Amino acid sequence: MTLNENELLAKVPTQLYIAGKWVDGHGDGQIAVEDPATGKTLINIANANAQDGLDALRAADETQATWAKVAPRERAEILRRAFELVKARSEEFATLISLEMGKPLAEARGEVVYGNEFLRWFSEEAVRITGRYGTSPEGTGRMLVAQRPVGPAFAITPWNFPLAMATRKIGPAIAAGCTMVVKPAELTPLTTLLLVKTLEEAGLPAGVVNVITTSTSAATSGPIIADPRLRKITFTGSTQVGRKLLEQSAQQVLRTSMELGGNAPFLVFEDADLEAAVAGAMLAKMRNIGQACTAANRFIVHEAVAEEFSDRLAEKMGALKLGRGVDADTTCGPVINEKARENMQRLVDTTVSEGGSVVVGGESGSGDGYFFKPTVLRNVRPDSTILREEIFGPIAPIVSFKTEDEGIALANDTEYGLVSYAFTKDLKRGLRLVEALDTGMTGLNTGLVSNAAAPFGGTKQSGLGREGGFEGINEYLETKYVMTPDPFI
Ligand code: NAD
Repeated sequence: MTLNENELLAKVPTQLYIAGKWVDGHGDGQIAVEDPATGKTLINIANANAQDGLDALRAADETQATWAKVAPRERAEILRRAFELVKARSEEFATLISLEMGKPLAEARGEVVYGNEFLRWFSEEAVRITGRYGTSPEGTGRMLVAQRPVGPAFAITPWNFPLAMATRKIGPAIAAGCTMVVKPAELTPLTTLLLVKTLEEAGLPAGVVNVITTSTSAATSGPIIADPRLRKITFTGSTQVGRKLLEQSAQQVLRTSMELGGNAPFLVFEDADLEAAVAGAMLAKMRNIGQACTAANRFIVHEAVAEEFSDRLAEKMGALKLGRGVDADTTCGPVINEKARENMQRLVDTTVSEGGSVVVGGESGSGDGYFFKPTVLRNVRPDSTILREEIFGPIAPIVSFKTEDEGIALANDTEYGLVSYAFTKDLKRGLRLVEALDTGMTGLNTGLVSNAAAPFGGTKQSGLGREGGFEGINEYLETKYVMTPDPFI
């Protein structure tokens, strides 16, 4: 049963959350949050200006010292209560994600499970922050090493996973004892607002997490990043914006975590289980309608199986049912906006003009929303434009290769290094690939790598740092070392 949309939207806060209070924004007008499946406004919310951003930073800064002293167990239990509350409201969160972002409800439910897991995982990590005590090599002193919260932190999140991208940052920050200003994407801010309301109910003290929603990201974020009270920035989004933020962060020498763009290769070898490879391809390509940093962007398929693989993938892609995410029979939603849809058409047209052919799709879907038909392109030339860009939509370009070395060279021929996928039954080859593929993550015979217990992140221009796993909390901690003379001398 789907929830009543109006009743759900009425529960979503529409103001900024600063120092534990819901307050109006002082930016121009309000932000109209749209349903990408209809192009209609769902709800209007507050628009923050630069002063609101600085007010949020002040709240975070004024709360940092007291929050850092709160017992780890208490921080853990707030996160655990929030996890239980989100779980109890899974259906509300899933419906809201689907409404503002467009993904099918089944996928949105998956995001709630995945995203919520970061609250549970980091509630478990909060009590495992450790240090060490030892004798200096000369024997004349004692050396203590402790971990302290780095905050206040500023988190900027993208629109594609409205819950998971927020919990992946808020979870470890709370666990580590950091306060935060969070700026969700203006296209999908509602889920973050509902999440913060839930954190408030879970007992999170005022000022620990502050949320600003704004239509002027650069103008509102700039003064926060330039302010010496800020100590850390954590960003998920495009490499282009990440570069700008890194430049700005250099002024105050901020700690930075950057989860940026991807251009994932998906390798299929001649010995692969083709059924598993096609199923993996559907997952790696079509999760989030292709709008994921982990989305398979380049299908690099051995020439012996390229035709069969593309036929089988096209059959599955062609069978997807386009529609509004919240409708029960929808298996593929819209892309996020008109600009994204136009970009899909440009990529298809360019690939065809460069010698590729359309097996299925290749054009917009019908209706008022931003629909683009799931598309498979084959005979794509290795130097095609589409292989150089992050597609971020439902298009699967297939290029073929002859030898393992050639396949690896094609896979690594990108400035990105987030994730790679490889399908082969040969274990030794699988391990050779794992070592040769220059990406932070590899899915070996699987199309899904994301897991709260794993260190998620990339190499090269896909970013800096890791989120999730044992590593995730370290992004919010800094090391303090103490030397003291041997107490027995
Ligand atoms: P984007 O870079 O356009 O925007 C991301 C966020 O940055 C949004 O909140 C936006 O409002 C804000 N922003 C934009 N310009 C800004 C500026 N000058 N100053 C401050 N904030 C600014 O990205 P997007 O379109 O929202 O998301 C898609 C991108 O995110 C893709 O490139 C995708 O690969 C990447 N992504 C990466 C990961 C990862 O973990 N590596 C996960 C999800 C998405």
